[in-house]
Amino acid sequence: MATPLTANAFLSALRAEGLTVVEVGDWRNHNRNHVGPWGPVHGVMIHHTVTSGSTATVNLCRDGRPDLPGPLCHGVITKDGRVHLVGYGRANHAGPGDPDVLQAVIDEGPLPPANEATEDGNARFYGFECENLGDGEDPWPAVQLEAVERAAAAVCRAHGWGAASVIGHLEWKPQKIDPRGFTMADMRARIAGHLGLRHAEVNGVILSDDEAARRQWDEAARSLPEVRALRDEVRHLTTKIDDLRSLVEQALTTRR
Ligand SMILES: [Zn+2]
Repeated sequence: MATPLTANAFLSALRAEGLTVVEVGDWRNHNRNHVGPWGPVHGVMIHHTVTSGSTATVNLCRDGRPDLPGPLCHGVITKDGRVHLVGYGRANHAGPGDPDVLQAVIDEGPLPPANEATEDGNARFYGFECENLGDGEDPWPAVQLEAVERAAAAVCRAHGWGAASVIGHLEWKPQKIDPRGFTMADMRARIAGHLGLRHAEVNGVILSDDEAARRQWDEAARSLPEVRALRDEVRHLTTKIDDLRSLVEQALTTRR
């Protein structure tokens, strides 16, 4: 649980990750705060827009549609990898979603399938809309995926969250399919690696390549629900093996 970053802190966090940020209009004060809460925040949500062309995409995300007033997110990530800030505060991007998913995000644990839509996601998530048709064929340029990774990592770093705090809209709400064209598991692994690498760099300690790689791996492992689940399993098995060993020792003692 966290208080949302100020607009300036949000902007600084994005720039600190090396992103090209475009400020659109009075983005700091363009929001839906008059209709509901913004915060406490727990994570970052990634979307695709089903649009093409950066100008049309940015305008739509800023202004919204007749049935859904803007802003439709905080940052729009266009195909050229730029992040366009269109609003700040409550935004119409997440909609109602699954409270069990929210709890998993808070715990940074494994995500259950989204099968409810009762929790107000617009109050709880930062949102990035990414320019893509979402048809599974429209390509995702490397520079755009890199920007998704950095933008999500920026917010995580600012809040002290791991990559498990980043979800796709499809993981939040039944029937949603976005983002389509890459998997959120892959993106979380990238974000975790990014957070780990920067962490090793900013510590001010000179690390050997092996040490830096090990730290990066550890960071990634800590952040990924899949790895954490596996570690729990290993711990459980280790306990079982210890129990077996005691049983065998007891048996041997009895025999003697
Ligand atoms: Zn979406």
